[in-house]
Amino acid sequence: MIQLGQDIKFLQGVGPSRASLLDKELGIKTVGDMLTYYPFKYVDKTRIYNISDIDGSMPYVQIKGEILSADTVGEGRGRRLVARLSDGTGVVELVWFQGIKFVMKNYSLHTQYIVFGKPTVFGGRINIAHPEIEKADDGRQMADSNGGMRFVPSYNTTEKMKRSNLNSNAIRKLMQTMFAMFDHPFPETLPSYLVEKNHLISYDDAIRNIHFPKSPDMLRKAQARLKFEELFYVQLNIQRYVRDRNRKYRGIIFPRIGDAFNGFYHNHLPFELTNAQKRVLKEIRKDMGSGRQMNRLLQGDVGSGKTLVALMSMLIAVDNGCQACMMAPTEILAEQHLQTLRAFLGDMPVRVELLTGSVKGKKREKILHDLLTGDVHILVGTHAVIEDNVAFCRLGLAIIDEQHRFGVAQRAKMWQKNAVPPHVLVMTATPIPRTLAMTLYGDLDVSVIDELPPGRKPIETLHMFDSHRAHIYKKVRQEMEQGRQVYIVYPLIQESEKIDLKNLEEGYVNVCKEFEGYSVSKVHGKMKPAEKDAEMQRFAKGETQILVATTVIEVGVNVPNASVMVIENAERFGLSQLHQLRGRVGRGADQSYCILVTKYEISTDTRKRIQIMVDSTDGFEIAEQDLKLRGPGDLEGTQQSGMAFDLKIANIATDGILLQMAKDAAQLVLDNDPDERNPQNDILWRRLQELRKTNINWGSIS
Ligand code: ADP
Ligand code: MG
Repeated sequence: MIQLGQDIKFLQGVGPSRASLLDKELGIKTVGDMLTYYPFKYVDKTRIYNISDIDGSMPYVQIKGEILSADTVGEGRGRRLVARLSDGTGVVELVWFQGIKFVMKNYSLHTQYIVFGKPTVFGGRINIAHPEIEKADDGRQMADSNGGMRFVPSYNTTEKMKRSNLNSNAIRKLMQTMFAMFDHPFPETLPSYLVEKNHLISYDDAIRNIHFPKSPDMLRKAQARLKFEELFYVQLNIQRYVRDRNRKYRGIIFPRIGDAFNGFYHNHLPFELTNAQKRVLKEIRKDMGSGRQMNRLLQGDVGSGKTLVALMSMLIAVDNGCQACMMAPTEILAEQHLQTLRAFLGDMPVRVELLTGSVKGKKREKILHDLLTGDVHILVGTHAVIEDNVAFCRLGLAIIDEQHRFGVAQRAKMWQKNAVPPHVLVMTATPIPRTLAMTLYGDLDVSVIDELPPGRKPIETLHMFDSHRAHIYKKVRQEMEQGRQVYIVYPLIQESEKIDLKNLEEGYVNVCKEFEGYSVSKVHGKMKPAEKDAEMQRFAKGETQILVATTVIEVGVNVPNASVMVIENAERFGLSQLHQLRGRVGRGADQSYCILVTKYEISTDTRKRIQIMVDSTDGFEIAEQDLKLRGPGDLEGTQQSGMAFDLKIANIATDGILLQMAKDAAQLVLDNDPDERNPQNDILWRRLQELRKTNINWGSIS
């Protein structure tokens, strides 16, 4: 009999060297870890397709045929081996970019093979990259070694593991060995009332069928059970945290609306608030008057007028004898906020000051002093604001702009600025799909500004090929001749930083040549912050007409006179990122343009993504699509949020219904058993504690 907590090296067939490989590559240390290493797909290996029936939409196919020819083509990084395989109904191309020698040595022409892989269609030809391939007469043995299974589980493994023969097949055998040793049921991991209420199968059934499904139906049920459970514990963790926070902290109560708010509203507000702004302000007012500490996320597309909502919320704090602060992720944004707020307030007796890393010496001392006496009402700044030496007289409201750079831990730091924690409003222009928000920012209430101020012309988005540069530049020139400004953005990702920088430099030189007589700014992440800011300021002030940049301009910069956003290598950006970039134009009343530049030859996927951008200007819709196309792992903010964690089986993009069920279930548990006295729930608290130990991010929110 083996135990779940037992070191994996004691499992028959593992041993010390495989154990260390499993740990290093997959983080599997114990038998229990192994058990929750789920297959990423199941293959019906009884079915062999005709090549003529294959299309690019099929996930995986198995075919049988003979190799007609094999040739290496291309040079350098593009070098690859292309083999043509025929089954009499058609031909597919098998392609290898790596291990070419190995393939050449081990497979021969005019022999029957069983080939398995994901087909893609490119230029009318079907190809399968890096297929699994084996001799056809080995096929029968293979079927036997599957133990007559119809659905054979496949496990993800790494290159290193494959080189040591620890491939998917080997993992499957280990799983079989392991299950053979558990001859009695795995203990239940949820209270039985939850299992019944949510129509779930038992843990034992689920864990066995997730690895070795008896039928498609059992596989579905196993997935549902394990996904539910995973999401449930995430929700339980978040909601329990929220409950404890609400118990621990009483919120400051702002009962009054006074001179600051009313004076601004009646004498200074330059335009009518949108209905969405009014609604959100009401929600915020209600929170701040409730006696509970507000923890609210304000989502609103770029240009939806969040700053104004922030200001008016801060004025409520001022009316109630409190101070407010507003934090931005960069100095330039903090500076812009300062100017915007001061311009809005005009001659009102509300004092707004700026605190960033660059505010030094006497000036800094004075601000810190006046902050402590309460003479500064509103403090705008960067991270500098949460440094320990910054103390307020009575901080009542903290606003964090562009939340994805601030995690839960940093937010919590704001609270320590006061005996009673201030209300917290987190603002973001990165629309987060509802399901993701529930998980990542589950501890925050959500308000949404879903309406743009009137009179905005939607940005016109165009897709152009880089071979049509003359067209692109013509548009740019037309706009500049009317006195407008232009952004040209290049991608920058870590791995290819050198190449990207080279692209940017070349682009810069070309643009300077093309637009002689205009001034061009250049900004990228490798520049010193002060240099970068200075260059951005030149563009913001209109001293330069073109800004060539990497994505450093993504967040928040406001230059209403800019009317064209050219995005080079647009295929390399995520949709949400493209949307953010696009939001830098269209800030004035005139028509603006976004030009997405790609190569002529792009994949179907890229074409789809670009088309979404051309068709839609709705950030939420784009975010949903992005989540579907890329999965939650890549979305910005998932790492820093502090609620992030690795989901082993559930998928935020597609498991929305289960997520809602899990959320309701967690709520029910906490409502019915607030003091955690019900013995039926003991199992929950114990398990939660175990999970918190193994998940760093979970620990960090307590
Ligand atoms: P964001 O939500 O992206 O931070 P801003 O707060 O920067 O948006 O607002 C964008 C622009 O819209 C600003 O110039 C702001 O003054 C203006 N604005 C905000 N609210 C309204 C409104 N209700 N009517 C007209 N213009 C508005
Ligand atoms: Mg903003």
